[in-house]
Amino acid sequence: DMARQARQRYQCYVEGLDERHLRQLTLVRDLQDAARQQQLSMVYQPQLDARTGRLIGVEALMRWQHPTLGFIPPDEFIELAERSGNIQRLTGWMLDSVCAQLQRWNIEGHGLSAAVNLSARDVNDDTLPERINDCLASHGLTPDRLRLEITESAIMHDPDHASRQLATLRRAGLSIAVDDFGTGYSSLAQLKRLPVQELKIDKSFILKLDESADDEIIVRSTIELGHNLGLAVVAEGVETESSRALLAGLGCDILQGYLFSRPLPADQLILWAQAHSHITSGDAP
Ligand code: C2E
Ligand code: MG
Ligand code: MG
Ligand code: MG
Repeated sequence: DMARQARQRYQCYVEGLDERHLRQLTLVRDLQDAARQQQLSMVYQPQLDARTGRLIGVEALMRWQHPTLGFIPPDEFIELAERSGNIQRLTGWMLDSVCAQLQRWNIEGHGLSAAVNLSARDVNDDTLPERINDCLASHGLTPDRLRLEITESAIMHDPDHASRQLATLRRAGLSIAVDDFGTGYSSLAQLKRLPVQELKIDKSFILKLDESADDEIIVRSTIELGHNLGLAVVAEGVETESSRALLAGLGCDILQGYLFSRPLPADQLILWAQAHSHITSGDAP
């Protein structure tokens, strides 16, 4: 009968679930409660002026320590959160957590700014500008303290809507970077119309820059392109001194990577900055 057939089909379905699929189901389920269970945290990676070596700010990156599965990479759980419709709640938690940290740093005399990552769904959400403004206001922060990183593919998902949304955020005083630039398919015309201030070259072009002539050509022309459009250019994934020197020579504006520091918990970030004379205790950078 039909009920028995359905049961059999379900049985086959369950047995057919491979390990990867089961892991995804588990992660999607557990992500719902991760913030409440205090399994999420933010780490901060320095961003430096390529010419002077001065600390410009930090990028805030999310971490999830799962109670049984251990560390889950953000590349994995952010995508799951996007697909399962949980990203907006996660972004809300992230914004609040970063703004609270910026406020604590303010009180300690460190006037740092933080770049935060937004996903395609966040950019599509018309309440985003209001949510960001409310978050800043409730922590007594001015909009120049947050910089928004939005991936090229998130913008190009619906370029017209993204463009209007970014313009609203820009008018509110936030600066915007195109993240993972070079991995999407934006045309020059689209890029020119976007109200953004920074291009962030994807780390896949930077990691082996000192060995790859192809990567060097790509990076060189991306820096030129950015500058011709009046944008600051950021490189992430700077791991070696030779890459740093090359990027500085090519006129790249801002550098970020393991060469300087890995992403660090807030208190360790301050210790790092003090050890490298970016800030002295109690002083603004
Ligand atoms: P992203 O925004 O492009 O962040 C840069 C990634 O490069 C980070 O990986 C960072 O740890 C890594 N990185 C920085 N310097 C180096 C280096 O020198 N070498 C290497 N190998 N890697 C370096 P992470 O923290 O694993 O984050 C991965 C991605 O997850 C981020 O890429 C971003 O797209 C997403 N993500 C992280 N936190 C958030 C968040 O709070 N919200 C959203 N929507 N996405 C996030
Ligand atoms: Mg980013
Ligand atoms: Mg990136
Ligand atoms: Mg990325």
